[in-house]
Amino acid sequence: MSKAYDVIVIGAGAVGTSCAYHLVKKGMSVALIDMRDVARGSSSHCDAAALLSDKQPGVDVALGYDSIRRFLELQEELSNPFDLEQGGSLTVCETEAQVELGAEYVKAMQADGYDFQMLDKYEMKQKEPFLADDLPGGFWSSACCSLSPFKLCFAFVDEVKGKGLDVFIHTKVTNILLDDKGAVCGVDTDQGRFTAKNVVNCAGVWSGKVCDYLGLYFPVEPRNGIILVSSQTAPMCHQKVQEYGYLITKFQTGFKQDPLVEKYNVTMNIEPTEGNNVIIGGSRNFTGFTEVADINVIRAIARRAIRFFPILKDMNCVRAYQGMRPYMAEHLPVISAVDEVPGFFIAAGHEGDGIALDPVTGQLISELVAGEKPHKDISEYSYSRYKGKGPKA
Ligand SMILES: Cc1cc2nc3c(=O)[nH]c(=O)nc-3n(C[C@H](O)[C@H](O)[C@H](O)COP(=O)(O)OP(=O)(O)OC[C@H]3O[C@@H](n4cnc5c(N)ncnc54)[C@H](O)[C@@H]3O)c2cc1C
Repeated sequence: MSKAYDVIVIGAGAVGTSCAYHLVKKGMSVALIDMRDVARGSSSHCDAAALLSDKQPGVDVALGYDSIRRFLELQEELSNPFDLEQGGSLTVCETEAQVELGAEYVKAMQADGYDFQMLDKYEMKQKEPFLADDLPGGFWSSACCSLSPFKLCFAFVDEVKGKGLDVFIHTKVTNILLDDKGAVCGVDTDQGRFTAKNVVNCAGVWSGKVCDYLGLYFPVEPRNGIILVSSQTAPMCHQKVQEYGYLITKFQTGFKQDPLVEKYNVTMNIEPTEGNNVIIGGSRNFTGFTEVADINVIRAIARRAIRFFPILKDMNCVRAYQGMRPYMAEHLPVISAVDEVPGFFIAAGHEGDGIALDPVTGQLISELVAGEKPHKDISEYSYSRYKGKGPKA
């Protein structure tokens, strides 16, 4: 029988390691449990961006901005670097119709006080000279960052391991235990029993399976994506660049600009890495639990990227990988206590924003577990949106 902890965190991805770190900073003892290893789920099969330019105006962008603020603090706070760069991001429109839609979006962001600017085709080419000549314009957002999600997970763990945090890898949680009042008292795993009065479900695409142990409805599903890595290159892009269609495919279906998008839901996004490669995305598909990259989707991603950056035609792709985004139909994660089960918390369902919202999610969960008022209004992220819903409700 292991020692009793204040909190058990299930899942050592970006979200779980951030929660564990922020909980220890509040003075709590934490067991971080993962069936694989630190950063071996979605958080090592993804892009590296914390964007504002892919958020919806309102609560979505407000949380994204708060998270970037916290990233900048963490850069000073954590001993190990995680390659944070606040280089901004460029969104490229392919048609005049998209420029008009983009201008409305930029206006809404500016009205909320965020630094977004429309760019005409010449201003855009100044930022990215290798863009195709026929693109009519786009917009720029200065606050967007890139970072290494893999290094970030380890930076959180290394900072507090042995100082309040114990990490258990290759350990699968198989049940959540309740006391006779129906409150959380621990978990069973394939390596034995752990005791704690609080459990945080940070199991990403698997968080629905963890909720199943308690009979709780949690409709998360994998929305898959593939990333290509180019051979090393002289600088050919200077910041995160994505096409406007990236926003459309994130929040809607039926973006009919290009046949490839229709077939594989592929839109261009690209960013340079520290090692002089470029990483090129991406796709958004519902193909179930899999980490296998389909060659047809890889081809489609390459073709779409060449449409925007013709120079890529002469480069090699050295690697491709697929990851699973924890998708929720409302496009908002759950960051919440679960009223039905005292001591049970959920931080999951971040879809394509689990890295971007990582610091603020950990901070908010630590406030909730400590019984404090969250520093932001997170009512829209409450589990209560599923009250009375779903087959198990
Ligand atoms: C192609 C692609 C590109 C992306 N790009 C971006 C981006 O640019 N910016 C961004 O913000 N987000 C991006 N994302 C999304 C991001 O990767 C996810 O939102 C994020 O990684 C989710 O983190 P997580 O900690 O919730 O899940 P994970 O990293 O998957 O961690 C969950 C962990 O739970 C563990 N686990 C599950 N069940 C159990 C159990 N029963 N017992 C013990 N352990 C368990 C798993 O082993 C896993 O390690 C992208 C995703 C993809 C696929």
